Amino acid sequence: MFMKNLQVQIDNHSGFCFGVVYAIEMAEEILEEQGYLFCLGDIVHNDEEVNRLTRKGLKIIEHEELYRLKDEKVLIRAHGEPPSTYQLAIKNNLTLIDASCPVVLKLQNRIKNSFDKDETIYIYGKHGHAEVIGLLGQTNNKAVVFQDISELNIPNLPKSITLYSQTTKSTDKFYEINDILRQNGITVNTNDTICRQVSNRDKELRDFAEKFDKIVFVSGTKSSNGKVLYNVCKDKNQNTYFVSNAEQIESDWFNPNETVGICGATSTPMWLMEQVRERILTF
Ligand code: SF4
Repeated sequence: MFMKNLQVQIDNHSGFCFGVVYAIEMAEEILEEQGYLFCLGDIVHNDEEVNRLTRKGLKIIEHEELYRLKDEKVLIRAHGEPPSTYQLAIKNNLTLIDASCPVVLKLQNRIKNSFDKDETIYIYGKHGHAEVIGLLGQTNNKAVVFQDISELNIPNLPKSITLYSQTTKSTDKFYEINDILRQNGITVNTNDTICRQVSNRDKELRDFAEKFDKIVFVSGTKSSNGKVLYNVCKDKNQNTYFVSNAEQIESDWFNPNETVGICGATSTPMWLMEQVRERILTF
């Protein structure tokens, strides 16, 4: 059979960030001991990895189910949780296995301190995202969350605000927003709280994406940083394709003798990128 002779390389900076590695290691340890473990929300925004852990006994539950659950261990994933979850755990005698990422915990603390000092808090983040719910909880849900500058009625904003960001947002957009607010005469106490695992990868991916004829970006569709980083690649290399698993790749995307780069989000497992490479090598 005629083969396309593709040169395929996986980006060695892609794959899980340390926050996700930590949560998954904790889950796997308890799964080995106990055979099952409840986890509040998807442990990682990647269906393939969630399915792998579900097969090992991980039971994903939502908050409504947590109200009914008693006397069990429950894993808190890297995104963190609001204080109300910890209070509920005490009430229901639940043991929380807290895998909240240290970067998120630090941000929660900073927001809590600002709130205790009566600052007017604005959070650039995705409405309803688990991390954002945890951040909002530090302020008794008083902070304003916005995911696009167009949601803010700039002439009516307070003269002075404290600005934070969800850890996985785009650095460029965050600073654009910051500039617009300042240009409109608002005093902004700016806190760039974007995780360096995301912002550094942003820079590395720009270099990586330029080096190949084609880029295959591997990510779950629910991953926030997956969207941000896919756009970074697409911006640098128009021939960038988004896939969530190896079956979605089409042979027609590649011409003979092309170079193909594979990369992904902080929630994309290395084994999945390896499966993607194996499949491309069959073309
Ligand atoms: S992206 Fe950063 S903040 Fe989010 S889980 Fe990973 S290390 Fe933690």
